[in-house]
Amino acid sequence: MPELPEVEVIRRALAPLVVGRTILEARIVEPRLTRRRGTPEAVAATVVGRRIRALRRRGKFLVFDLGADSLVVHLGMTGQLLWCEAQHGFRPDGHTHAHFGLSRGGLLAYRDVRKFGELFVVPARTVDSALDVGLEPLDPVFTAAALGGLCRGCRGRIKALLLDQRRIAGIGNIYADEALFRAGIRPTRRASSLRAEEIRALRRGIRAVLEAGIRHRGSSISDFRDPSGEPGRFAPLHRVYRRHGRPCVVCKTPVRRIVLGQRGTHFCPACQR
Ligand SMILES: [Zn+2]
Repeated sequence: MPELPEVEVIRRALAPLVVGRTILEARIVEPRLTRRRGTPEAVAATVVGRRIRALRRRGKFLVFDLGADSLVVHLGMTGQLLWCEAQHGFRPDGHTHAHFGLSRGGLLAYRDVRKFGELFVVPARTVDSALDVGLEPLDPVFTAAALGGLCRGCRGRIKALLLDQRRIAGIGNIYADEALFRAGIRPTRRASSLRAEEIRALRRGIRAVLEAGIRHRGSSISDFRDPSGEPGRFAPLHRVYRRHGRPCVVCKTPVRRIVLGQRGTHFCPACQR
């Protein structure tokens, strides 16, 4: 599933292409995409004629600012936003569920094999409350004190806290496992048991893995592609995620995999305490 780094890679690639262009045509052929709010016809009617003023990211959501309204896209498990510079080059397949024709000839296509993605419109001033996501881990507000406050107020395990989008936005299974490895913390630890130096290490680990993920253009575990169709290059650099049975990159102990909260969870039993 695309997490913060993959969504940020898409945002950075698309923003210079789409900002300033007007949506001339919108076609949404898969009604499941708008299940959260509205209908394909209503979303299309709202966005056509609007100029894209900015493209932001909030957690794993992409937010196209259209003035009074915002078009929100969530890629679900396998969603892709693909850019086509010339509309005559557009080749939709059976998984292309929406497309937007823009001024100056560009076209943005939404493709999603498993159809868990979402596409909806909300009034711009209600974006934050509609998405209900927590702190942005790359923003200055994500301090060790803020993370410590979240840990103290949490009765569950630290990995579950990292995955809780309402508390911290954008971290999913891959980057949670990688951040906990870098911090030397077992995913099964109670969040409230973390000491001050562990919280500082975890904040550094979270930022380091997210920044590395963006720098290497995302992790292509399943279907992630950037808007030009290129896979990311971060997956081979993962230190624990899906490396179970292989030696830890630090101490050579075999990496373990357990199931925690129904998610495959990977850690080094020697390096992580
Ligand atoms: Zn190790």
